[in-house]
Amino acid sequence: MPDTVASPGESGVSMAPFDHPKADIILRSSDGVDFRMFKLLLSLSSPFFDSMFELPQPCEDVLPLLDVTEPSTTLRPLLSLCFPLAANITPITFKTLEELQPVLEASVKYDMSAITTHLLTHLISPTFLQTQPLAVYAIACRYKLTPQARLAAKATLRQPPPGSPLCPFTNHLDNIPATSLFRLLEYRHRCTEIASSVPFGTKWMPLTYVWFNCSHCPPGKRLRSWAWEGDDDFECRYPRQWWEEFMEVASGELGKRPCGETVTGPPPSSSSSDGEAEGVDGSVGNGFTYLGARGSEVGNGSGMPVWVKRFVARAMECPTCRTNVQDDMRRFLKLFERQVDRAVGIVELKVDF
Ligand SMILES: [Zn+2]
Repeated sequence: MPDTVASPGESGVSMAPFDHPKADIILRSSDGVDFRMFKLLLSLSSPFFDSMFELPQPCEDVLPLLDVTEPSTTLRPLLSLCFPLAANITPITFKTLEELQPVLEASVKYDMSAITTHLLTHLISPTFLQTQPLAVYAIACRYKLTPQARLAAKATLRQPPPGSPLCPFTNHLDNIPATSLFRLLEYRHRCTEIASSVPFGTKWMPLTYVWFNCSHCPPGKRLRSWAWEGDDDFECRYPRQWWEEFMEVASGELGKRPCGETVTGPPPSSSSSDGEAEGVDGSVGNGFTYLGARGSEVGNGSGMPVWVKRFVARAMECPTCRTNVQDDMRRFLKLFERQVDRAVGIVELKVDF
């Protein structure tokens, strides 16, 4: 319960909406900023405050003051979320996870369930999931948030594996048990096994693609069959050598980055924004090979990952394959991407909290 009363002029006073003359309590932040608030709003937002205000108040003639442990940078967004829409408060935004995490911490501490739920939509926003999935995962584990942890774990598949030199460290890992990191590595291992085996599946690709029908360029050496099974029909075809080798490389790429985007999508932001140039072998200097939106070449697999483009270039040397390989490969990659995502999607992160 509030144990002191406000002394005007002793502390900094926060700006609107925390300067309202009809406020009935002051929350003073750890850095000495006063937030004039309404008990009713706090009671509606938090059983913690509701119970506190049930206790006898010291003096009804003086505005009560409550010292809290949170700094003003945390208190302002947290208390702003207690106001109704009609108060016309500027919507809260978080540019970094370092801004969001302490507010989430406070909302959990004060049992503000609706506000916590709202903050979680910020935590799993596309921006944070795409750029800092490991940090999002760590925060989700810290607060025992299973759905958010699973979503973030899936997003980490698009990044280099945790622990590799290419995966940036995040201090948020300091706040989770080793078990949570073990579960993430375990999840990635299982996704890697499944994703890298997708290229060798036998019943998910039509046999209409040119690499199944060309009889001009060399056939595959390993006599591995790919087949499409219709309602009652089953047909076996042996692909051309360039395509067989393409699928073997695809398996290796999916072993490094087990998600559908590996076969179609742009490079991870961590590698596309650092200005590294493509190497002669198509690598972008981080062990992953892509041709993303930067690729401006026309033909020979333009817009495809670099490692795919190399095989398309080989197919273009065949007078039969070259007629359809670019269109067929684009259609195939979309199917391939869906197949990988479907296969990986059945893997579930184990949680221990
Ligand atoms: Zn051919």
